[in-house]
Order: sequence, then C-alpha cells, then structure tokens
Amino acid sequence: MRAVVYAGPEQVEVRSVPDAHIEAPEDALVRVTLSAICGTDLHAWHGLDGIPPGTPLGHEFVGEVVAVGSAVQHIAPGDRVVGSDFTACGHCWWCRKGDHWECPHRGMFGMGSVFGRPLGGAQAELVRVPFAQTTLMRLPAECPAEAAIFAGDTLASGVAAAERGGVKPGDVVAVIGGGAVGQMVSLACQNHGAAAVVVTDLIPARLELIAALGGVPSSPDNARAIVDELTDGRGADVVVEAVGGSGPLETAFSLVRRRGCVVSVGAHFAAQWPMPVARAFADELCVCFAIGDSIRLGPRILPLLTVGAIDPTGVVSERVPLDGVPDAYRRLAEHTSVKILIDP
Ligand SMILES: [Zn+2]
Ligand SMILES: [Zn+2]
Repeated sequence: MRAVVYAGPEQVEVRSVPDAHIEAPEDALVRVTLSAICGTDLHAWHGLDGIPPGTPLGHEFVGEVVAVGSAVQHIAPGDRVVGSDFTACGHCWWCRKGDHWECPHRGMFGMGSVFGRPLGGAQAELVRVPFAQTTLMRLPAECPAEAAIFAGDTLASGVAAAERGGVKPGDVVAVIGGGAVGQMVSLACQNHGAAAVVVTDLIPARLELIAALGGVPSSPDNARAIVDELTDGRGADVVVEAVGGSGPLETAFSLVRRRGCVVSVGAHFAAQWPMPVARAFADELCVCFAIGDSIRLGPRILPLLTVGAIDPTGVVSERVPLDGVPDAYRRLAEHTSVKILIDP
C-alpha cells in the first residue's frame, strides 16, 4: 500500500510500505477514504524525538471497514467509520471514567512513540486500528465524511476546551490562534451559547475565516480593547490558547478576567514556562490544559455534524491526492492553508 512517511526534518515522502493487516482480535482494518493533515503533524514534520525516518504519518481519518478481529462486535466490513486519533483499551480504570487519553494502552496513529505505543499512520491507503471497539465509530448515513473527519481530533479538541473552561451561555470567550483548532474552539463555544468569541490571529485570510465562522476577528494586540468593550473592562470569562508555546499563553493571561479560566489546547513540547503565579493567585485564576478525547466526545459530536448544528467544513482550504501531500505539508507550514484534506 502507499503511505506518507516522515523522511527527515521538513521532508515527507509517499512510499510503498507493507500492507496494514489485522494483528489481534481487537483490531479492525480500514480502507482510508478521507484523511487530513493536522497542526500536530507539522510538529512531526519539523522533527520530534520518537518519530524516526520511515514513520507513516497521519491520525485523522474516515474510511470503510475491510475486516474486523473476532472481538470487534459493533462494526462489520463495509461500514463507514471515523477513527479517533488515538486508541484506548476501553476497559481500564481511566477508560471506564471516560478519560481515554490517560489509558495506559494508548497509542496515537502516525506519531511514532511520542504519545504512547507506535501505530501506523492514516495518511495511507489502509490503516490497522487496535481496540477498534473503542477507537472506531460508525457514521450515520447522513453525516458527510468531510464533516465527520473533524470529530476524530480537531473538533473534539475544540469541544474539550470549551468544556474544560466551563463555557456557559452568555460568556465572552477569547481564543488565541485562528488555525484549524482555534476555529473549532470558536464553533464549539458558539454551540455552548457564548455571547461572543473573539479569535486572534495575524494572517489576513484567517481573520476573514474567523468572521465567516461566526467569531470576532482581532489581532492579538487589539484583542484586549475588543474584550474590554464587550465586558465593561472585566476581561474574557474564558480564554482558550490554541497555538502552543509560551507567547500565546502570555497573550491568554492578558485577556482573562479575575476568577476567569485559561485553557490551553495548543500542543506544548517545551519542558517549562514561567507562569505568572502572583497574578494567578491574586485573581484566583483557573488554569488548565485540554486534549480532545474523541472517544468520549465523538458520540455527542457526530449528531451535531449530522444535522449541521456545527459545520466545521468551512476551514477546509483544499483536498489533495496522496501524491500531493508532501507539497501540502509545506503550504500548511507556510500558513497559506488552514486545513488540508487528503483523498488517498
Ligand atoms: Zn490532528
Ligand atoms: Zn484503557
């Protein structure tokens, strides 16, 4: 089968690799009909410890079940499914609590050993899905694949951030970053009833997209003025940082009100960050981090996508075939695209 593999810093290649196949009774084999490139894949593309050259990339996918192991009951060959970006056993203490990301058996597709056991990537013709009973959801017939693929990671991250921050009807929310995840946070907070979602970015095309998807676009420098106008100078009730890194976290702190909440859903790889603890104490801030759990949230997200209550497809910049993926990574890195879907 053909797959996109990491070939070295800022290099990916489409290569022939051995066919994915069923290896355990809990596995399913899925023919990928739609995949995507994610901001997390860009961290892999730049080079990460745990991703050796030759690693097949990609963790967002919709596909058709080709075969299932004997322990997989809820799906059958021919079913249309969406995958969670990571696997979890479904039986341990964490999984029973609904905290699948903490599962000791976690593996993330296409990320080498960065987040657990290495699994093949989904930017490929076939993908092997361990713990398929937990990891795969069958798609309602009316749910478009182009919307469903967001349930596997980016929209789950958006919903997880809105929930973690406790976004309530009437809240004024600020979001740092108008990339795909930031836009999903905006949609999720609007769905939670936020009165306004101010989304900051510097790229003109992204600012246009923020407005088109119902957010209030702003440069990072002007965001405090807009938030103050909306909140009588208090600051945002909830601020979601959706970029990663210390600079965006500092911007988030500059926008939050006293007793407000800062949620970070951006991917962080630095070991430390100088947190402004004196202010966090004096203002009784809540600071937390969120990772999308599409296994927990997917069953609630899919109906929203099916009826169109949330439509994430507005962020799709382009669809490319597998051969177009190496150049597409470059466009995503240069911010000339927001979300790129792949037709394998
Ligand atoms: Zn992703
Ligand atoms: Zn588990």
